[in-house]
Amino acid sequence: MKRLLISGILLLSCASLLQAGDFDRWFEDATLRLDYVFCGNASKQEIFFSEAFRTSEWAGRRTRLDEVLLEGNGQIRLTDPETDKVLYVNSFSTLFQEWTSYEEATLVDRAFENCFQVPFPKAPVRVTVTLTDNHRKVSARMSHIVDPADILIRPLSDNGHSRTVLHRGGDPQRACDVVILAEGYTAAEKPKFYRDAARTVEALLSHEPFASRKDCFNFTAVAPVSDDSGVSIPHKGVWKRTPASSHFDTFYVDRYLTTANMKDVYDAIGTVPFEHVIVLANTPVYGGGGIFNSVTIMGSDHPTFRVVIVHEFGHAFAGLADEYYYDDMYEPMYPADTEPWEPNITTKVDFASKWQDLLEAGKAGIFEGAGYSSKGVFRPADDCRMKTNTCPDFCPVCTRAINRIIDYYTAGE
Ligand SMILES: [Zn+2]
Repeated sequence: MKRLLISGILLLSCASLLQAGDFDRWFEDATLRLDYVFCGNASKQEIFFSEAFRTSEWAGRRTRLDEVLLEGNGQIRLTDPETDKVLYVNSFSTLFQEWTSYEEATLVDRAFENCFQVPFPKAPVRVTVTLTDNHRKVSARMSHIVDPADILIRPLSDNGHSRTVLHRGGDPQRACDVVILAEGYTAAEKPKFYRDAARTVEALLSHEPFASRKDCFNFTAVAPVSDDSGVSIPHKGVWKRTPASSHFDTFYVDRYLTTANMKDVYDAIGTVPFEHVIVLANTPVYGGGGIFNSVTIMGSDHPTFRVVIVHEFGHAFAGLADEYYYDDMYEPMYPADTEPWEPNITTKVDFASKWQDLLEAGKAGIFEGAGYSSKGVFRPADDCRMKTNTCPDFCPVCTRAINRIIDYYTAGE
């Protein structure tokens, strides 16, 4: 069996284990949405199943089903209960796990919603959700059987929100399907939302390497109507009723705009098939965030929008780490004894798994200061879109990481 070392994760080459065509053997062309609550504090985390839904199409990948390119801070895995054969796996990060690194997590227990989409199984499967800490050690795990015949799997019906296809690069079975969700746009502001969403697509697809791979992306705008215009800004005492309940001041950081209400996000998207979601918040205030395989969220009208959306999508789509540093973390995000799984930073614990080849080829360097620490964490370039808003391009390592993820999603049969 061939072994591949990709981004610091030892993977078994799975072509021999799960051949193309296995999708149809194990899965329907439908989506099983599984909702969980992740709870705990800085020292202990737990996972609880909440509920399950069915939608009519599967937008995710149909090959390389049992393989993750990036480890993430957690994984959801479907196995055959009789043989333990891995049928599908995906990785992710969560706002909950980020919160556990803040001082608040030493003072109080909290619960966060998370939703995941997996292909709808034809027979009962074991679903295992695993969370890992910043030492890449398992911090929580739960496992349960999901029977596709369970009468309590709720079929989702069309929620009636208007939508429009903004860019169709290819067959949804092969392309990366991205939904842009309206957040804080009233009925009267729907035309503005569609203009802002089109601007989002244009910003992303004008940046390399996305520009060269337009054919690998589909973008659909979904426009739930908001009661209020704009989004909540707690440090100004402003609270709004909006579809995704997003707000600034996440973890008391002014510019950190997120939503913890992932069920609201998924309910607002409804039956539209998607793999990635960009929550577009109707505000001129600077802010946003991107969480790997979870959500990108971005204020629509700040002058830096075009460049920051690309940075945040780099987090959410390609698992890229921040290459900047302020030394402002309560505790280090990337401890010195652990190689981070993110492809564009290193602690030199396992640099060979990162961009040593590009260093030797003279295409990248190694610069100290990244991942919120000025010491002990290194980045591949002096500047990069993942470091500053003024840098126009992704560095060669980030560019390669994005291309690898696109290949992973769009691999042919
Ligand atoms: Zn970079």
